Amino acid sequence: MIIRFAILPLFLALNLSMCKKQESVSPSSQQASASSPAPAAVSTPVAAASPKITKPVVDQTAQVIIFCYHRLVDKIRYPGTEITPAAFEAEMKELKDRGITVISMQDLLAWKRGEKNIPPRSAVVTFDDGWKSQYEVAWPIMKKYGYPFTMFIYTEGVRGGSLGGGEAITWEQLADMRDNGVDIEAHTATHQDLREGHTITLIAGGKRTRTKLTGPQYEQWMQNEVVGAKQLLEQRLGIKVNCFAVPFGNYNEHVKDIARKSGYEAMFTVYGQPITFTSPLDSIGRYAIEANKPKVFEDAVKMIGTSTGGAAAVAEVGAKDLSTHPADGETVRTALPLIKANLSAIGAIEPGSVQLRVSGLGVVPASYDPKSGTVSYQVTQKLHEKSCSVILSAKSQGKKVEAHWTFGIEEGAAAGGTSPIPTPKK
Ligand SMILES: [Zn+2]
Repeated sequence: MIIRFAILPLFLALNLSMCKKQESVSPSSQQASASSPAPAAVSTPVAAASPKITKPVVDQTAQVIIFCYHRLVDKIRYPGTEITPAAFEAEMKELKDRGITVISMQDLLAWKRGEKNIPPRSAVVTFDDGWKSQYEVAWPIMKKYGYPFTMFIYTEGVRGGSLGGGEAITWEQLADMRDNGVDIEAHTATHQDLREGHTITLIAGGKRTRTKLTGPQYEQWMQNEVVGAKQLLEQRLGIKVNCFAVPFGNYNEHVKDIARKSGYEAMFTVYGQPITFTSPLDSIGRYAIEANKPKVFEDAVKMIGTSTGGAAAVAEVGAKDLSTHPADGETVRTALPLIKANLSAIGAIEPGSVQLRVSGLGVVPASYDPKSGTVSYQVTQKLHEKSCSVILSAKSQGKKVEAHWTFGIEEGAAAGGTSPIPTPKK
């Protein structure tokens, strides 16, 4: 739950349709404002028992680099968007050699949502525009390495569309990719600069007109580029599209806004940078790999290549193993409870690594007694909700462990009922 706290604001901002997934989120993650900690360590050693790991929690220190490729051709004519198959394969091999794990786009998003763990150093491979060389040349190489990947398609550029020529991918090829687990996402309808007032080409009845759209005309055109492209891909291929790549990486706040409102979970640009757990999902940078700039790939790989290998993922320990007070599921009669847990079941705890979070308060100045293994915190500000969630984390043998539990507060207590514990003076 600690993770969901961190991503909740971002998550809400991006996609309200995902709300189902947040039912269990506690209402607040504010910082503690309690100024007078009232530690009351109690020495009641508990017999050591091996803790049960109940659920993996995601590694928030992992980093992801995302690559964006275009055409794969033997003879480079447009170095800005082309790469030779040999150079491409060498890069895919290098990822493997460097221990960088290629993960799918959907795994990246699941990690960002706090639902799935990913390796500490990961990469996502994407192909833009929908060229047949991506089907004929890139895909066999990706298969050889067992790498998942994502195709960003602009719908009018698919073969048969107003912009789809002989080098374009076909709907049949896309369906074949879909059937084999390739992720297919949106890259507009006609692949143009989406910012209002920029010169674009309108195609109607085979006629092309250069123009600049503003106001309602622009908004209408955008609907087709952003929503229409998504719907067409979803309908033609029977898929769910939740990612959007902006053409040329050109966007502004309004473009981001429309993408968000159109139901995209994430929007992608071409400003390469390592993606972290907290990177905003509405402008995720990708490294665009070009034949004449091999350094871009090298730099990207080095960006996460120098990391320490990432911290071990957090493991969750059952609250029962920690003899918590109040116990998980218990209802107390006070809005000012004493919160306690015993960490001795976990093993040696690294000094200073113990952290206690309380819903409605945030991190609280809890005291930890290494002798007894007891963590305690006397709540000094009344808890206002009917239930209170506690997240206790600590490091043991280099590994982060967490326990989550929730207790109830009897109605009336929160509103100022009698408390068995004297209210500390403020
Ligand atoms: Zn493109």
